[in-house]
Amino acid sequence: MLFYEIITQILYRGNFASTIILQKNGLSKSLIDPLNSFIVKNNGDIILSNKVNRLVIEKDNVVSVLTGDEKLSDYDYLISAIPLYSLARIIDLNILNINIQFEYSSILNIHLWIEGLNLKEKFYGFLDSPLHWIFVKDEHFNIVISDADYLIEKDQNEIMELVINELKRFFPVAADAVKKYKIIKEKKATFIPANKVNKLRPEAETKIKNLFLAGDWTNTGLPATIESAVKSGRIAAEKVLKNI
Ligand SMILES: Cc1cc2nc3c(=O)[nH]c(=O)nc-3n(C[C@H](O)[C@H](O)[C@H](O)COP(=O)(O)OP(=O)(O)OC[C@H]3O[C@@H](n4cnc5c(N)ncnc54)[C@H](O)[C@@H]3O)c2cc1C
Repeated sequence: MLFYEIITQILYRGNFASTIILQKNGLSKSLIDPLNSFIVKNNGDIILSNKVNRLVIEKDNVVSVLTGDEKLSDYDYLISAIPLYSLARIIDLNILNINIQFEYSSILNIHLWIEGLNLKEKFYGFLDSPLHWIFVKDEHFNIVISDADYLIEKDQNEIMELVINELKRFFPVAADAVKKYKIIKEKKATFIPANKVNKLRPEAETKIKNLFLAGDWTNTGLPATIESAVKSGRIAAEKVLKNI
C-alpha cells in the first residue's frame, strides 16, 4: 500500500513530481519565515518553547490544554502535530483508539570543522560507504548516516574513526585537519513504516470532536518524511474547515 502511494504520488505524476528541489536560501528562509509572517499578518500568535503537558478531556471535547505555566481554553479546534510518543504523554491513547507500536530507525548527524579541504560542491552523496550524505558550508561539514542503529551504542571515538577513515577514501583529508566535531544521535529519527503498522496509522479526525491529528506518522500514505508531515497538516486543516 505504502509502495503504491509512493509510486502513484511521486513517480507517475510526471517529471516535476519527482524533481529534487533545493531551496536557494535554506528551509527556514524559504518556508518558515513566510509561514510565520502569514500567521502574524492574519492575527495569529506563535508561541515557542511552551511544552504541552496535558489535554483535559470532558464529554468528548478537549476543554483545556495545560502547558508548563498556562491553562489554555480559548480555542475552537486543536490540531496536534507532535510525534506519537509525545502524544502518548499528554493524552491517553486509548481514548483516541490509537493502538500502534512504532519501531524507529536512527539517524546520525556528524558535524565536522575541517581546515584546508576546499570541496567544489555544496553536497555529495556517497555510494558504497557507511556515510550517506555530506553537506558543505565553508569549513563546516555535516555528514548524515541514516539507518544508523548499529552506531548508536558506539562511543564518539569509534564513530569518528569510522568517519575519518571513510572521508579519507574520498577526499584528501590531512591527519590533523579536523579542528572540532559534534555527533548528534537521533534514536527515533523516523518510524519504520512496516505493513503491520501502516494499517493502524490514524486519520486526522479523532473521537474527540475538537481534536485533530497531524504529523508524519498519521495516515498520509507516505513514509516518515517532511512531505508526509506537510500532507498531514493539509489534511487536518481541511478537516477542521469542514467542521466550521
Ligand atoms: C536527523 C533527521 C534527518 C531527517 N532527514 C530527512 C530528510 O532528509 N527528508 C525528509 O523528508 N525527512 C527527513 N527526516 C524526517 C523528518 O524530519 C520528519 O518526517 C518530519 O520532521 C516530521 O514532521 P512532524 O511535523 O510530523 O514532526 P516533528 O518535526 O517531529 O515536529 C514535532 C514537534 O512537536 C514538538 N513537541 C513534541 N512534544 C511536544 C509537546 N508536548 N508540546 C509542545 N511541542 C511538542 C517537538 O519539539 C517538535 O518540534 C529526518 C529526521 C531526522 C531526525
